[in-house]
Amino acid sequence: GQMERQLEGNNNKQRLKQQASTGSTDTLTEDPDVISDPTSDKQYVRGRLLGKGGFARCYELTESTSKVLYAGKIIPKTRISKPHQRQKLEREIHLHSQLAHHNVVQFLDYFDDDEHVYIILEICNKKSLMHTMRQRKTLTEPEVRFFLLQIIEGIQYLHSQNVIHRDLKLGNILVSDSMEIKLADFGLATRLEFDGDRKRTICGTPNYIAPEVLEKIGHSYEADIWAIGCVMYTMLVGKPPFEGSTLKETYSRVRNNKYNLPFSLHSSAKDLIKQLLNSKPEDRPGLEEILQHEFFTRGFTPTYLPPSVCHTAPRYA
Ligand code: ADP
Repeated sequence: GQMERQLEGNNNKQRLKQQASTGSTDTLTEDPDVISDPTSDKQYVRGRLLGKGGFARCYELTESTSKVLYAGKIIPKTRISKPHQRQKLEREIHLHSQLAHHNVVQFLDYFDDDEHVYIILEICNKKSLMHTMRQRKTLTEPEVRFFLLQIIEGIQYLHSQNVIHRDLKLGNILVSDSMEIKLADFGLATRLEFDGDRKRTICGTPNYIAPEVLEKIGHSYEADIWAIGCVMYTMLVGKPPFEGSTLKETYSRVRNNKYNLPFSLHSSAKDLIKQLLNSKPEDRPGLEEILQHEFFTRGFTPTYLPPSVCHTAPRYA
């Protein structure tokens, strides 16, 4: 919607176009009410729709015997009819299924039938930070620290597994019932094969695209650091740093490192954002370094936030 474009930039326009061109059959195909996993004999009863992505619809699923609630991504096979689309999904499943960390959405299972591919995931009942930002517009510094700490911990884990997420954005940062951050959507993620390996291209358009990714000169883990900077900026300012009225304009701003730091931001927040949004990937701070920055060390970080922060600013007593 409008707010998503405002918060995450123009790439969504392009995604909508992609969706239209792949033939949006959302309203035509019926998703099954009960889903059976032939390999484990488990049955899942479909509940409410949690959200829609480029390929998938995501529902609440209840496992029949245990009554445990999961999130289930249902991907119509018509959406992955082209070999490269199928390969991309297979890579996403392969990569995600090997990950296990409390700040990464847990992958539990996948299976398929004639019409759909199903992916069973840990459920994140508090939706995404995109939803939170829609309601809140901006977050307070303590909240930003609270969320960023967990985002960084999740990214630290991914990088330790040689994985670059490459599409970190508010909509892919999910929140559990206990207000824990869970990184999601490994559709653009990749694993580096060896030390010093660099990727040249991405099959897709990351929202918070780093300049080195845009220029196709080779990119690595620092692309995620850039995205952390964009996420931090958006949480504090209420709009993304490089947003233009067209994708072309946004990309030109990214190339020229053209963004404004509102006067109202504290100097430590401004300083950290500047470091994260450095054009040169090699000059961006590492994850450990970010945590040592005075934005984190000098400011108060709550150990717990109530779910009410999804819609209302907390008052720190
Ligand atoms: P796609 O890979 O097709 O883009 P996404 O992974 O982005 O699909 O999922 C679509 C939407 O479903 C997300 O934006 C989010 O709102 C919701 N969603 C995805 N995974 C979960 C989950 N584990 N728990 C709750 N909601 C989820």
